[in-house]
Amino acid sequence: MLAPRLNVQDLAGAFHYFDAQTDDARLVLRVLREAVAAGGTAVNYISAIDLIREEGQVVGVQLRDETTGATTAVRAKIVISATGAWADELRQKVDQEPRLRPLRGSHLIFPQWRFPLAQAVSFNHPLDGRFVFIFPWDGVTLVGTTDVDHSDSLDEEPHITPGEVAYLMAAVESRYPSLALTLDDVLATFAGVRPVINTGKADPSAESRDHVVWLENGLLTVTGGKLTTFRLIALDALKAARAALPDMPKIDEDAPALNEVTEDLPDILPEAVRRRLIGRYGVDAAALVAAAQPGELGTIPNTNVLWAELRWAARSEGVVHLDDLLLRRVRLGLLLPQGGVALKERIQALCQVELGWDAERWNAEWQLYRKRWEANYSLPPRDVIPDWRTMLHKPETTPVLVNKRGRGQTAIAAGLLGTAVALIVLYLGLRKRL
Ligand SMILES: Cc1cc2nc3c(=O)[nH]c(=O)nc-3n(C[C@H](O)[C@H](O)[C@H](O)COP(=O)(O)OP(=O)(O)OC[C@H]3O[C@@H](n4cnc5c(N)ncnc54)[C@H](O)[C@@H]3O)c2cc1C
Repeated sequence: MLAPRLNVQDLAGAFHYFDAQTDDARLVLRVLREAVAAGGTAVNYISAIDLIREEGQVVGVQLRDETTGATTAVRAKIVISATGAWADELRQKVDQEPRLRPLRGSHLIFPQWRFPLAQAVSFNHPLDGRFVFIFPWDGVTLVGTTDVDHSDSLDEEPHITPGEVAYLMAAVESRYPSLALTLDDVLATFAGVRPVINTGKADPSAESRDHVVWLENGLLTVTGGKLTTFRLIALDALKAARAALPDMPKIDEDAPALNEVTEDLPDILPEAVRRRLIGRYGVDAAALVAAAQPGELGTIPNTNVLWAELRWAARSEGVVHLDDLLLRRVRLGLLLPQGGVALKERIQALCQVELGWDAERWNAEWQLYRKRWEANYSLPPRDVIPDWRTMLHKPETTPVLVNKRGRGQTAIAAGLLGTAVALIVLYLGLRKRL
């Protein structure tokens, strides 16, 4: 009942545990907007291209506006680089050796009606024993992830490779064969690059996912880790920054990560919509609702997204290009077929009003968005995607994407991992009860 349509052949058992989920872009935006409301300044499309040094110590950064090419220098008591997988680029400017191992993780997205789930499901991949997840996310079903060395330039946005598509389809096929899912069912894809500390392990998945804070010649780098622990990571960075900021007020380690929202939204909105807006937009949710035009508190067909979210994001969330709006403010590019092409006219009308784009600008933005969607959020050409059914039936002759271990070892490792996770879950459950 909890995992309908799951293939139970050879299934010896299962365990149940609780986890949290988020929309990463909205989490980041909420943190940023709350920081700005508290007196901070946030800018986008600005790159730190160099560090300013005096007597070997970093005292500021050289910035470039990526929309105009203009550069400027900013001096600071401390420079904190939270640049993820790109962190080595700034570290090299203070003569440090690279220490990161960029690992790509890619995903497939299916419509929920085609891949219905009662709740998230996780299991060992049949080919290499890694854990893969299939979960309901904002009205679609998300399958991920892979964990492979990313050798492409970090200047280019990552995309799923044909081998990764086959790897994820093999996982789906092994546990949900009765759904007979094919590539025609895939709505969208996306990939990201994890900043993982390189210890030279043969298996990328064996590298630790811990975060690090390094202070090197006045440059404080904070990288690695998980979204789950972002508050803890920020606290560690602040503690390390204290060395350069003796007047910094005492850190309140118990302060909540996000501001509390005390004002509820009008109760004509369903409870699920109120929770969605407050979670994603925090105190701005009320202004978002107030800015909605007639009919915009309804959802965009086949999504949970309100038209009002699109208007609000275009008006007040620093949108520079159309892909900011459709991929990183609201996620229509991931949730709708062909990145939302069917909504083109209505989105155009909204952008013309909120962003002041004339027809020429709109056409240029639309072309750019379509190009990006095709290159980074759609499937690679079908004829280069390996046949995952053959991989499943003849695994010994097929190179495994991620993990080079033999099948026997894999089964043992997977078994041990499963046992360890079950024990941790049991321990957490007991602790909670205590
Ligand atoms: C495939 C995948 C799956 C994941 N799954 C999970 C999960 O299930 N749970 C979980 O908790 N975490 C997960 N994570 C980890 C999570 O995404 C990261 O912990 C988080 O994104 C790290 O945030 P960050 O701000 O440190 O780095 P990033 O999110 O990488 O942000 C760094 C930013 O710095 C910018 N930047 C880089 N260089 C410069 C420069 N010179 N000047 C200006 N800006 C610059 C980049 O453009 C980028 O926006 C996953 C990551 C990936 C890739």
